[in-house]
Amino acid sequence: MSARDVEKDFYAALGVPKDATAADIKSAYRKLARDLHPDTNPGGEERFKEVSEAYDVLSDSTRRKEYDEARSLFGAGGGGLRGSAGSYAGGGVPGFDLGDLFGRAGSAQGGFGDVLGGLFGNARGGGQRAPRRGADVDAAVTLSFLDALRGVTVPLRLTTTGPCTVCGGSGAAPGTAPQTCSTCAGAGVTSRSQGGFAFSEPCKPCRGSGRIVGTPCAGCRGEGRAAVVKMLNVRIPAGVADGQKVRLAGRGGEGERGGPAGDLMVTVHVTPHAFLGRRDQHLTVTVPITFAEAALGAQVSVPTPDGPVTLKVPAGTTTGRTFRVRGRGVPGKGGDLLVTVQVAVPQKLSSEARKALEAFAAASNEDPRAHLGVV
Ligand SMILES: [Zn+2]
Ligand SMILES: [Zn+2]
Repeated sequence: MSARDVEKDFYAALGVPKDATAADIKSAYRKLARDLHPDTNPGGEERFKEVSEAYDVLSDSTRRKEYDEARSLFGAGGGGLRGSAGSYAGGGVPGFDLGDLFGRAGSAQGGFGDVLGGLFGNARGGGQRAPRRGADVDAAVTLSFLDALRGVTVPLRLTTTGPCTVCGGSGAAPGTAPQTCSTCAGAGVTSRSQGGFAFSEPCKPCRGSGRIVGTPCAGCRGEGRAAVVKMLNVRIPAGVADGQKVRLAGRGGEGERGGPAGDLMVTVHVTPHAFLGRRDQHLTVTVPITFAEAALGAQVSVPTPDGPVTLKVPAGTTTGRTFRVRGRGVPGKGGDLLVTVQVAVPQKLSSEARKALEAFAAASNEDPRAHLGVV
């Protein structure tokens, strides 16, 4: 637990009173987690994290007790932590100098935030035994233009850390078992008194784990965790753009000792399409039309990801003009299909077509350069 944790009101985050039972906390969390889950509630990630963090602490009776004690010791909430710590140190409680005291727990130079962080980091204690959230993991996928539009489930191979498969996470070589630490009797912490306060420190011989590994596992060198390869199927939502990052809560590294998993952050690369393009929420396409279609008007079939649409090109349409087909943009984003027409000039003429064109030229008295005059 860090000083930052102490500043947060975890009870408010879950909307429960300070004396809520473990069952109350669990049911409040379940309801919030359901309502706020990023898969169903995009944009709610911040709040979801807040709630998860609060639940991590409050659902663990040991960590909840530490948190409650820290909050009551340093004044609850907001800037109260630094404020009251400062007033202790400066206010001159006789014979009690928080600066000195905490200086021993962390770096004296670090300011109260750091020093308290060090202190609670120790008190957590057990450090090594408390649940810890898994690591956030980055990954990248390359999708076709259409898959990115429609959303797709892609297989991902992730290398992350997780419980060692050789020893099952105990850190002890197969066939051996970790022994309870005799110094702390398995508690992971030892107590000492200072200035009338009792402080817990992580036990040194077992490094706070409460257990001593006699013969370390070769697979993880006794750490209990090792690199693991995880195969995942991840759902990339419809409408992702090139370069966009998609956060998948809880699909990252596995937590330790029952802690929640970290998040998976997937950077999406999108390969270009042969003729469809994208501008924000709009899809774009360039459609060639003949000179006759442009001059006379025509119904033109335009391909879209959801099947062709018919575009009415009015008589006298100039090349480069863009038409908007409403509601046929990127799915779910409320965009349009922007169709730009381009007059195609025939590269080869049959003799019949040539005659017809010559007849047209003779019959037409329009001079498209009339406005240019002389420079
Ligand atoms: Zn191992
Ligand atoms: Zn110990």
